[in-house]
Amino acid sequence: IVELYGVTKAFGALTVLHDIDLTIQQGEILTLLGPSGCGKTTLMRIIAGFEATTHGRVTIQGADVSYLPPDKRPVNMVFQRYALFPHLDVFDNVAFGLRLKKWPKERIREAVQHMLHLVQLGEYGNRWIHELSGGQAQRVALARALVNSPSVLLLDEPLAALDLKIRHHMLAELKRIHQETGTTFIYVTHDQDEATILSDRIVLMNKGRIEQIGTPEEMYAHPRSLFCARFLGETN
Ligand code: ATP
Repeated sequence: IVELYGVTKAFGALTVLHDIDLTIQQGEILTLLGPSGCGKTTLMRIIAGFEATTHGRVTIQGADVSYLPPDKRPVNMVFQRYALFPHLDVFDNVAFGLRLKKWPKERIREAVQHMLHLVQLGEYGNRWIHELSGGQAQRVALARALVNSPSVLLLDEPLAALDLKIRHHMLAELKRIHQETGTTFIYVTHDQDEATILSDRIVLMNKGRIEQIGTPEEMYAHPRSLFCARFLGETN
């Protein structure tokens, strides 16, 4: 569903992505895993359209989107710090993008209620953001990102701000939401456990290059290099 061809990204003299080729399948959860600074977030931002490539192309559903702005791509993104609007309640946060697109009122109400139920916040529409726990706020961010049925959802360390217990609960929630919506998830983390629990496939990155791609089982059973073995073997 998403294809990267020879994607290279330089910030001035610093090249942070080197000639990345990658195909992401419809409906899978693919995780970009790797140490801090290896280029995961930059790759995600390129898919979303927040950064342009220096060389290379990005296609989504067969169409070249390399020159399309973020709002014209069938992708939404969830950030580590939810980026919700504090002056709006939960319902209006989720409805925000649909109102910009001038959806009719009744359709907005139905879509937002449906999404709030899906993230198990059906009764929370009238709450203010500051009245929510971190896990609840992140679920509102998820609802907002999924409400217009994007083909692809990009998640950049969405659980990093949450404590360990809630993180495990949210991982299970993410899997359930993925199954119920059928959306393709591209997930960024530096946490091997998260990647293993969640992913259909893991892309292990190092210094702007792909070291190895495979299912979690393949990666642990047959690490392709010392870097892979060491990185996967580390515990947090
Ligand atoms: P982390 O896990 O710490 O978020 P990451 O793997 O997501 O790391 P990126 O954020 O993609 O890594 O950054 C890759 C490299 O690109 C880093 O060396 C970073 O300093 C550099 N970089 C990212 N954005 C910019 C920018 N706008 N200008 C200059 N350098 C940048």
